[in-house]
Amino acid sequence: MASTSSLHAKPHLVVIGNGMAGCRAVEELLARAPDLHRITIFGAEPRVNYNRIMLSPVLAGEKSFDEIVINDQRWYRDNHIALVSGDSVVAIDRAAKTVTARSGDVVGYDTLVIATGSDPFIIPVPGRDLPGVIGFRDMNDVESMLAAAATGGEAVVIGGGLLGLEAAHGLSLRGMKVTVLHLMPILMERQLDGAAASLLRSQLEARGQIILTGADTAEIVGNGAVEGVRLKDDTIIPAKLVVMAVGIRPNVALARAAGLAIGRAIQVDDHMVTSDPSILAVGECVEHRGQVYGLVAPIWEMCRALAEGLAGRRSGYAGSVTSTKLKVSGIDLFSAGDFAGGEDCEDIVLRDIAGGTYKRIILKDDRIVGTVLYGDTADGGWYFDLLRNRRDVSGLRDMLIFGKAYAPLESPA
Ligand SMILES: Cc1cc2nc3c(=O)[nH]c(=O)nc-3n(C[C@H](O)[C@H](O)[C@H](O)COP(=O)(O)OP(=O)(O)OC[C@H]3O[C@@H](n4cnc5c(N)ncnc54)[C@H](O)[C@@H]3O)c2cc1C
Repeated sequence: MASTSSLHAKPHLVVIGNGMAGCRAVEELLARAPDLHRITIFGAEPRVNYNRIMLSPVLAGEKSFDEIVINDQRWYRDNHIALVSGDSVVAIDRAAKTVTARSGDVVGYDTLVIATGSDPFIIPVPGRDLPGVIGFRDMNDVESMLAAAATGGEAVVIGGGLLGLEAAHGLSLRGMKVTVLHLMPILMERQLDGAAASLLRSQLEARGQIILTGADTAEIVGNGAVEGVRLKDDTIIPAKLVVMAVGIRPNVALARAAGLAIGRAIQVDDHMVTSDPSILAVGECVEHRGQVYGLVAPIWEMCRALAEGLAGRRSGYAGSVTSTKLKVSGIDLFSAGDFAGGEDCEDIVLRDIAGGTYKRIILKDDRIVGTVLYGDTADGGWYFDLLRNRRDVSGLRDMLIFGKAYAPLESPA
């Protein structure tokens, strides 16, 4: 499929990555300038664009793959997008302005968008390459987990963060006996404080999961396939499946090999332009103003800025404040901003441990800087808006913890 852009009237936009960011960026561009480019999207996965977030409900049996497809074949066809799926790009030649795919195809571009996402971080312990050790990133991983769960048995999830707990929940619902190993003393320490984490732990344990905190993995043991995990204190936890959910690494190998500026990820400006003006990057593979994101809300904002830039408009991306929810049915948890507190911060706390409710709002200079809600998350969006918009809440503070319904007379910003 060798081609050069000069053969075609419209400039050729090539996107590497058929995931959440790559396709959303194209959607945003089509909404603003549908006829500006000829578009080709390369995707390493042999699938159409699907909602990666919803892999957790697919694992848990609450959704099918078809239900989480965002754009089916028709979308590509209707928008004249050439989709090259199941073929990854292996090289970018910036001088020739071409990309080379694993299949050997060489495709010319006028503008290139790198949206290669992240890879799961696999902890470098002996046994990590054994069959039965996987990450939790794509539909293939879900299929591997479902195949293992079909015959029951024991699973270990390494990592008690958002992703690990969603994997553990799904495997548990699918009939496996699940142990979660978490290195830190509390679950989801990046999103929760001790009180909320202990409510979460009790609720998960009541559902039959075994949670081990302070658990440091030494080795994956097995002869030809996974048989268990050995901790540094020599405890062995039997398992035929080990899911590593200990973090992600931005997928920057292609960009690095092409000589683009890389920090913690591919460095971009406010219009998602890399150190090469013909190459943009978007999603988890980018670093913007020193930040790297692992959630979709910031990525949607990046995609808008990218499209605005390509469509010739000026507004840019200024960074995001993020919030988190856990997608485990029956557990309501919301967290946003900075909840570590500090000398100049104040806490407002409502705690009903027996009722399973905990709410904490962290204030600094009369503004919300963080919130952790457990059990009752109905006001999460409201607190998040107050936080993001840096609203002065001094006029609301007496009733703030009870939620929006009790604080109707908001003071002006
Ligand atoms: C199970 C799970 C649950 C999640 N839940 C939430 C949630 O509740 N809320 C939230 O905000 N976020 C959640 N996330 C994170 C969210 O899915 C990611 O932030 C988002 O998918 C990142 O989008 P991206 O396009 O940067 O990366 P991806 O969606 O991973 O897309 C990158 C794509 O590029 C492809 N690719 C990589 N290299 C190449 C190459 N060389 N050539 C061609 N293609 C390539 C990859 O195969 C992949 O398809 C979850 C993630 C997972 C895995």
